[in-house]
Amino acid sequence: MRVLIVEDEVRLAEALGQIISEQKYSADVVHDGAAGLDYALSGLYDVIVLDVMLPKLSGFEVVRGIRAAKITTPVILLTAKDEVSDKVTGLDCGADDYMTKPFAPEELLARIRALSRRQGDVVLSEMTFADLTLNLSAYTLSRGAKSVHLGNKEFEVLRILMANPKQIVSKEDLIIKVWGMESDAEDNNVEAYISFLRKKFYFLGSKVNINTIRKVGYRLEAEEGC
Ligand code: CA
Repeated sequence: MRVLIVEDEVRLAEALGQIISEQKYSADVVHDGAAGLDYALSGLYDVIVLDVMLPKLSGFEVVRGIRAAKITTPVILLTAKDEVSDKVTGLDCGADDYMTKPFAPEELLARIRALSRRQGDVVLSEMTFADLTLNLSAYTLSRGAKSVHLGNKEFEVLRILMANPKQIVSKEDLIIKVWGMESDAEDNNVEAYISFLRKKFYFLGSKVNINTIRKVGYRLEAEEGC
C-alpha cells in the first residue's frame, strides 16, 4: 500500500512518514498543497493523508482538485482545531474522513487500514500494457507464462510509466516520484533503471518498448500486433 502525506509541519510529516513506513507501507511526504495535488494526480496512492492549513493550496482545494480529476483515492483530512465547519467543508469537498490534531498514531493507522479496505475492489492488483502485466503485490512483471521479479526502483519506474501509457513522462517526474524530492538522484540513475527494464522486456519477449524522447523523457509504446 502506498500512502501520500501532505503536511507542512515538517516534524509531524516526517513522524507520520516513519510510522507508516514501519507498517511496511510505502510513504511519500510533501509539504505544500500544490505539490500534494501534483502527487495525488498521479493516481499512484491508495490513501492520502492531507492537512487542511497548507501553503500554496489549502487541503480543501487539494481534495476538490483530486475529485475534479476523477481520482477516487480515499482522503483523510487533518484539521488543526475541532471545528464542525471545517469537517463539513472537508467532507463536502470530497474527503472521506478527518482527524483532529493532536491524534494518536494508532488511530490514524486504523483509519488508513479501514479506508483502504473500503476501497477494496477499486485498488488495483495489477496493471497491464499491451502484452505485459505488472503485479502490484508480488512485484513481478509477466508476459504469458514467463515472469520476472522487479527490484523496488524498477517497479516504481515501470508503475509510473504504465499509469501514463503513451504519454511522455519526464526524467524529473520520475526522479521526484521514485527517489523523492530531496534525493540527489540524477538523470543517470533513471537511465540505469530504464535500461534494466528494457533488458527484462527483452527477456520476456515483449513487444513493449520504452522510447527515449530526447531531452524530454520516456514513453511506453507497443509495437504493432499486440
Ligand atoms: Ca498545516
